[in-house]
Amino acid sequence: MATGYATQAERKGLNSHKRITSLAVMEKLLSENRGPALQWEGKSVKTVTFLLDGVNEDMKVDSINAVKQGLLLQETRSCQVAILCKDVKVSADGMERLYRKAREKGVLFFKYDTPPRFSIVNGHIQVDVKDTAAIHKEEQWPVSILSDLLVISESFVPTPETERLCGLLKLHLGNRGFLMEDNPQFLRVRSNRRGIFLAGGCRFPQEVSESLIEARAAAQEAIALLSKGTYTFDLSVAEVDPEKCAVCYTCPRLCPHSAITVEKYAEKNIYTVSGAGVETKWGAAKVDPAACFGCGICVAECPARAIILHHETDDQIYAQMGLNDGR
Ligand code: SF4
Ligand code: SF4
Repeated sequence: MATGYATQAERKGLNSHKRITSLAVMEKLLSENRGPALQWEGKSVKTVTFLLDGVNEDMKVDSINAVKQGLLLQETRSCQVAILCKDVKVSADGMERLYRKAREKGVLFFKYDTPPRFSIVNGHIQVDVKDTAAIHKEEQWPVSILSDLLVISESFVPTPETERLCGLLKLHLGNRGFLMEDNPQFLRVRSNRRGIFLAGGCRFPQEVSESLIEARAAAQEAIALLSKGTYTFDLSVAEVDPEKCAVCYTCPRLCPHSAITVEKYAEKNIYTVSGAGVETKWGAAKVDPAACFGCGICVAECPARAIILHHETDDQIYAQMGLNDGR
């Protein structure tokens, strides 16, 4: 899955002013107009202010884009650039160097805790902010910056098809509706379902270089699965005894890998919802062995003791512990 992410602009009040734009629009403007001066609505732009962390405080991609765009504006379009943020996030490949270069070239950085106020002064945008970069409070001064253009962040949201695809593929959704990895520390490209891998901004907005690393990792995972020609599932997988299953729906809800469905494969437990047709008859819970990771959660939680974990049955565990009479 590589569905990426989308952005959502909040254009209310002053945010809808014609001299306020977004990082995405500025990116497009810089790539389409390579002349020595920046034009905005037919007028030359000399001063640009970036205001970050208003909506995506925990995302570093805004910082990265603002530093890159600011440096380009300062170096190639002779603009004076100021970047206002709560924290400059430079934890990406080469970003520390780029940040230092931006400072050397004259890009101004201001740190704020209280959101800046902005107003229109003679058709320009004025931003008033208390710069909290200094450690000592008495050295933290209020600053007013007058700009031709104010560039703000837009909210990051999952692409519209993400939720529907997740429902179809039984994938887990995490923070803000983005896709969730199986293990954020070690298995970042693996989803909760075996054979489905995640790469890029579908998990959270990120830099292109990071997405490429994840795409390579996902491709390697797919090669590892496909190169054998056939997939042989692990021997320690769960299996439901349909004769014991009470169709309580505990295990399909709890399985972290969406490996259990309730299917019409057993004669016991068949019932029909009153007023509905024959199609509503159900059999028992069933484990897909290729999707099962053998974690044992369903075994422990089944109230009817209808599930066993092959090669890890209770009797085998008791025998290993020398507790054969302990039941
Ligand atoms: S938890 Fe047990 S009884 Fe409930 S659906 Fe699953 S197998 Fe059946
Ligand atoms: S053992 Fe774990 S992964 Fe396998 S079906 Fe049960 S809960 Fe799902």
